[in-house]
Amino acid sequence: MLEQLKQEVFEANIELMRRKVVIYTWGNVSGIDREKGLMVIKPSGIDYDRMSARDMVVIDIRTGEKVDGKWRPSSDTATHIELYRKYPQIGGITHTHSVNAVAFAQAGRDIPALGTTHADYFYGPIPCTRSLTKEEVEKGYEKNTGKVIIETLEERGIEPLAVPGIVVRNHGPFTWGRDAAASVYHAVVMDTVAEMTMKTLLLNPSAEMPQYILDKHYYRKHGKNAYYGQK
Ligand SMILES: [Zn+2]
Repeated sequence: MLEQLKQEVFEANIELMRRKVVIYTWGNVSGIDREKGLMVIKPSGIDYDRMSARDMVVIDIRTGEKVDGKWRPSSDTATHIELYRKYPQIGGITHTHSVNAVAFAQAGRDIPALGTTHADYFYGPIPCTRSLTKEEVEKGYEKNTGKVIIETLEERGIEPLAVPGIVVRNHGPFTWGRDAAASVYHAVVMDTVAEMTMKTLLLNPSAEMPQYILDKHYYRKHGKNAYYGQK
């Protein structure tokens, strides 16, 4: 079932390890087949070096039930489901505990847009959510993590593909994209941008970037007048 998507999601999970944004089993990537309404996700607690495409788990996002695979799915499955249900434009989701993005999550701070590296991929600050309440943690924690991500994007009027990631307060980054590989790419970029931003703020706590530089860099890569790269 969904052999090609399983292969893509497996490779996306391996790419996370290869880019050194995860150690042990600290991350998960999923991808979705929108026509079938089925999500493929990493199994829970399986080491990357023992994992193969056959170990991926298939979940029906309408029911939340497993429909294929021998392992239990990632413990963050319910978060992925919430985001797929809400945003039909998303085709892949990645969660990590990468050090630099987690530092912003733990500090409870947005990752401000201070330079063109950030602006090439994220159109504005990468938001930090509020903390989950005690009730939200005790009942339906993973689902509520998805809900607080959606709440934050909606409050700020963010189109998810324009800012393809967020940090969940006290926890860490979630990123997304048109497919699983794009969500991993954004996870790797976000962590590097977070490291650059942290160092920038050490040197100059009031550093900022004018809006027109943000606009220039974002729109030369995205949108109908984009001209970056090859035709
Ligand atoms: Zn986590």
